Amino acid sequence: MKKLVALVAALSAVFAYADNYPSKTISIVVPFAAGGPTDRVARDLAEAMRKPLGDVTIVVDNVLGAGSSIGSNRVAKAAPDGYTILLNHIAMATMPNLLRNMPFKVESDFEYLGMINEVPMTVIARPTMPAKNFKEFREWLNAHKGKVNLGNAGIGSASHLCGLMFQNALQIDMTAIPYKGTAPAMVDLMGGQIDLMCDQTTNTTAQIEAKKVIAYGVTTSKRLTTPVLKDLPTLQEDGLKGFDVSIWHGLYAPKGTPPDVVAKINRALKLALKDPDFIKKQEALGAVIINDKRVEPAEHKKFVAAEIAKWSPVIAAAKEYID
Ligand code: ASP
Repeated sequence: MKKLVALVAALSAVFAYADNYPSKTISIVVPFAAGGPTDRVARDLAEAMRKPLGDVTIVVDNVLGAGSSIGSNRVAKAAPDGYTILLNHIAMATMPNLLRNMPFKVESDFEYLGMINEVPMTVIARPTMPAKNFKEFREWLNAHKGKVNLGNAGIGSASHLCGLMFQNALQIDMTAIPYKGTAPAMVDLMGGQIDLMCDQTTNTTAQIEAKKVIAYGVTTSKRLTTPVLKDLPTLQEDGLKGFDVSIWHGLYAPKGTPPDVVAKINRALKLALKDPDFIKKQEALGAVIINDKRVEPAEHKKFVAAEIAKWSPVIAAAKEYID
């Protein structure tokens, strides 16, 4: 009987807690640099989720380094109360195979909150690159073998993966220059300190439009519809057979976050994904808002598990690891 009373008391505490949620500032941890593409998604989403969560303040906290594992680990170890959540991309599926000393488990240390969007990538180069189109760019890369600098956001990042696939497809080795996000990499690319980068359109669209970088191709199998990017050829059109990469983003809470709190965040996410202002901002940057069952936590989890399986052989073949 005593046990039953204790159980009922514990359960009512959980429900009372969820009733009051959220009653203070929520922090969305972004494991890449401020001003970059993951940060862009988080800031737009924070704004769109604020109202559905009762006008609560939502801040973005950039916790950088080690291919997003430092920020992700911070959330895996945070109090499971719904006030510290993670927004990360495809790195959730690459980290388990890349990190030799993985400090957390992607599949069991988080509550999955739902997916947000998919974002194509673009191959871009410094503004002084002499090539006028992809054919000439390829010739330039071939002529400068051993001297080409390729920026990325660290091992396991989207730009790293895309860069690896690009080098593989062209059969040209390049020197990877890692940054803590593609925002700082973009600054060096515009300044001509590095030669090229493959990055999400959420970071590259404005710079392409302003002609601060030169775009040579888009990584998806179909051309994009975004006005600024619609004339960019796909890498497949340029002869890179089967090249098809899009980067997805999702939200995660620490394992043990009460189910009612998970449900409240998921509901706010779903409302945000229908918010015309959020959709407009994201679509202008080439992002595609998730509009299928992957907004459900269980489906999100299944999708990430499938992505881990999909990327595992690519990573094994690249033989690059984080110690
Ligand atoms: N675009 C970065 C990446 O390559 C991440 C970022 O800076 O948001 O993964």
